Amino acid sequence: MTTKDDIKRDMMGSDTQYCYYCLTPKGDSFSCCQENHFGTFANLYPEDQQALLDEECANIIGDTQ
Ligand SMILES: [Zn+2]
Repeated sequence: MTTKDDIKRDMMGSDTQYCYYCLTPKGDSFSCCQENHFGTFANLYPEDQQALLDEECANIIGDTQ
């Protein structure tokens, strides 16, 4: 069973980059929010990490608790 800790560990080790402003995954775009400011999950602010983690958990295990 996947737990929130498992998901966080995966995200902390991920190379996926996110826009610092709206937290959209970078994907194939070179800019977002009219900026070129992206960082991996591990580089984001703690409150932004928490928001992304909650969203990911809701997608994967259907429960944010
Ligand atoms: Zn953005």
